Amino acid sequence: MLGRKKYTKLNIEDQVLEEVSKEMNAHDTFETVHVGVNIDGTEEETDPYFNGLGPLRKGCIECAGCMVGCRENAKNTLDRNYLWFAEKMGLKILPETKAEKISFIDNLYYVETRNVTSFFSRGKETFSAKGIVVASGALGTMELLLKQKYKFTTLSSLSDKLGYELRTNAETLCAVSGAFEKLNNGLAITSVFSPDPHTHVEIVKYPDKSNAMKWFFGLSVGGADSSFKRTCMLSLKTLTHPWQLLKTLFNFKWSTRMVIFLVMQTTDNAMKMVWGKSILGSKMKIDNSGNKKVPAFIPVGQEVMERYARKVTGIPQNILLEVFFNRPTTAHILGGCPMSDTIETGVVDKNLKVHGFPDFYITDGSVIQGNIGVNPSLTITAMAEYCMSKIPQKAEADSNDISKQLILLENEWKKKRSG
Ligand code: SF4
Repeated sequence: MLGRKKYTKLNIEDQVLEEVSKEMNAHDTFETVHVGVNIDGTEEETDPYFNGLGPLRKGCIECAGCMVGCRENAKNTLDRNYLWFAEKMGLKILPETKAEKISFIDNLYYVETRNVTSFFSRGKETFSAKGIVVASGALGTMELLLKQKYKFTTLSSLSDKLGYELRTNAETLCAVSGAFEKLNNGLAITSVFSPDPHTHVEIVKYPDKSNAMKWFFGLSVGGADSSFKRTCMLSLKTLTHPWQLLKTLFNFKWSTRMVIFLVMQTTDNAMKMVWGKSILGSKMKIDNSGNKKVPAFIPVGQEVMERYARKVTGIPQNILLEVFFNRPTTAHILGGCPMSDTIETGVVDKNLKVHGFPDFYITDGSVIQGNIGVNPSLTITAMAEYCMSKIPQKAEADSNDISKQLILLENEWKKKRSG
């Protein structure tokens, strides 16, 4: 469904990462990545995945713009696979509509929604259903469910473990900018290696003129046990290396000669999302004070960045949020709805059904149980498919033409795989 395919080209930035992997005795772990992109396609519009049942696509032109949205119709986003077919089978999609309040009364769920883009009316509507599936991404799901439990108290019997085991994929982001030549070739992510058994490091690129991220980065500083110490270290580095700072701030080709390192680990750390009071009213807050505290500095990631910087004569950079506030950064927030056999120890059961409520499921990254140390989209998809496979198909769905053809297609894929 995601059209996953191995990217095989080695661009200059990948070759440099390969060199670093050799230096760190991890060359056997270096590889190019699988991507959900129509990389073999042409300029002509075709449906390369679903025997003509799916939408038309064009081939990838390797502009490195995947992170900011593909303008070429080559990236396999959900509106080109799952949502496309769901709509064809009769599902109604309501864009720009946000679920605000969920109640459960007399065996029916009532979901109050509002339109998020209408200026003059709130566009409120209420839907009722026998069952619901929440899939708002880990942060969206946390906010929605914590509100129901603690603010509206409409679902107050949700497990007390809601918000626990929130994972950052044990990640950090750091960057090398101002390199001697263009580094944003190919797709946004093209190669990866594991400098140690718990760590994956990927290079991430942005297209020309996508420089917004540069304002999040300052000069690199080593680790320390407090944000105060790291801030002092950064101040000292800025005073002693003013040209480096100016070169990053006034670099109008920052994204062209830059790579970001996405450092992901499988270590067992976690924080908590809680519903707390602030001067602006009650809202969701992060609590990173537990005994599995998530660190805001990963030494091995820093080492990869510094080695890479030397090879491309670039400037190593750290995220300022980590330095000033000792806050970890992540591109893949996960967890918050722990899976367990009982409501006392978890929010969902092994089939992703919410404890204590009938026909209520959660199918996004919030049900992932640990730091998986890789990009999580395939895992989330697999878990959502697993959850749906446990729900019996409606008899009338079998008579739907598209559904029948998809089943045939699936059987064909299965045969190919087993062959
Ligand atoms: S590199 Fe990414 S954004 Fe550019 S065409 Fe390919 S898929 Fe689309």
